[in-house]
Amino acid sequence: MNIITLVARIAEACQLGSSRTDRSALPTQAFEPGATRVGHLPARFDHQIRATPAGSIRVHKPVCAKLLGLATALALICSAAQAEELMRVTLLGTGSPRPAPDRNGPSTLVEAGGLRLMFDFGRGNTVALFRLKVPIGSIDAHFLTHMHSDHINGLPDTYLTGWLGTPYANRTKPFRLFGPKGTQAMMENLYAAFSEDRRIRQEDEGYPLSGVAFDAKDIEEGTVFEQDGVRVSAFPVDHGEHIKPAFGYRIDYRGHAVVLSGDTRYSKRIEKEATGADLLVHEVATVSGNPDKVLADFPNYRTILAHHTNPVEAGRLFAAARPKLAVYSHIVSPDNPAKGVPSATPAEIVAQTRQSYDGPLVVGEDLMRFSVTDDGVEQIKN
Ligand SMILES: [Zn+2]
Ligand SMILES: [Zn+2]
Repeated sequence: MNIITLVARIAEACQLGSSRTDRSALPTQAFEPGATRVGHLPARFDHQIRATPAGSIRVHKPVCAKLLGLATALALICSAAQAEELMRVTLLGTGSPRPAPDRNGPSTLVEAGGLRLMFDFGRGNTVALFRLKVPIGSIDAHFLTHMHSDHINGLPDTYLTGWLGTPYANRTKPFRLFGPKGTQAMMENLYAAFSEDRRIRQEDEGYPLSGVAFDAKDIEEGTVFEQDGVRVSAFPVDHGEHIKPAFGYRIDYRGHAVVLSGDTRYSKRIEKEATGADLLVHEVATVSGNPDKVLADFPNYRTILAHHTNPVEAGRLFAAARPKLAVYSHIVSPDNPAKGVPSATPAEIVAQTRQSYDGPLVVGEDLMRFSVTDDGVEQIKN
């Protein structure tokens, strides 16, 4: 076997390793409820390369050392590239109440330990899951940050469409939902509101009622979910005096942590929770250009902005907490087309943030995915 063949074999082994976790593109295969779950990934690369048939190698001794060095270096590179994916975070929706076609309402999918956990249910979340080929019914648990409608208006869709006996849905177990005070009552009312749909589909299509049953819980601060090594903790954030409780969430798995801010003003609590975290997904709100041009016509925007975190404040928080990566989602940017004021661009949001923070930062877009491994956090290229 020559060097080229050896390199080809190693490349082949790498290919074997990477084929199990396709990080290069959005899934194009059929819906797979369980086979591709994060945390149920195969053994690391070094186990796989031993299992790869290598054939016999006969080379001259001096060359052998070089070959081995090369092979080792390549193996190390491949191994580094194949660090086990422990958590995956997907932005299902990065928008606000604004019904713009380029941003779904706020929603985030966190995968770890073979579980799929979903946080908030803004408009379009089921469409995002469909594009990812993740069956709605395969979500193991659902979490609400607070009771603003932009975080909930997609919930009936998640709940009811997820019940249909189809490849993209197919829930057969009760819909598990954790959220602030009022969550259980809301689900009881939703259950009543859709009683005719439930009757029709059960009688006509014969879906099991277990899949449209619900298990909803009003939560308090602290650990709210613990399963298969994954812990979800709720913590209070500051979304204004009338919007209580409002929670952020921290998801811990195998020494790694993802923190979701929820909707909030600058919060020392988030700063604490995100210190040392791998990934912080934080909301942001700002106006492009001169705020007076927007705020004079729509004074309520002033109240809205006062309930959120502006980029300079968010940057201060990132600088204090130093997560491995900070990502903006729930991007609020009031516009005023009549006065020629558009929403702020990602470049403007970054420029404002750079006044107070110089670390890793991404302005989120719908369907962006992030992978957490022992080597750090990286954006999965779509
Ligand atoms: Zn809100
Ligand atoms: Zn919101």
